[in-house]
Amino acid sequence: MKKLTLKLAQESSYACDKGWYNLIDDCLNDIQKYLGIYKPEFRKDFKVEQIKEKFGSLRIYFSVSDGQVYDIINDIIRYYEIQSTMTCEVCGENGKMRSCNMWLKTLCDKCYKEWINE
Ligand SMILES: [Zn+2]
Repeated sequence: MKKLTLKLAQESSYACDKGWYNLIDDCLNDIQKYLGIYKPEFRKDFKVEQIKEKFGSLRIYFSVSDGQVYDIINDIIRYYEIQSTMTCEVCGENGKMRSCNMWLKTLCDKCYKEWINE
């Protein structure tokens, strides 16, 4: 069973498909752990502004008032952005970035076939 933790963001506000929800969860958990252990004074200050897909990869925008804390959280998020370019946005299986009619989307073979047939 999942441990009940303070939610940093609501799934309903994620502007991407469900295949990336686990990545987002892991990313927000890592951020929460980092803040909890090293910078508890910034826990209330940290805010997720937006979570979305852009150019085929995951983007998580946030704000925090300290420059050093910002850089470290940015590094955590960069790691998950890179993971998203290898994770199918629709189903969460291994995927790669595809393009179709000027759109970029990271998909597994199966979801890619469905996508290009739409
Ligand atoms: Zn897929």
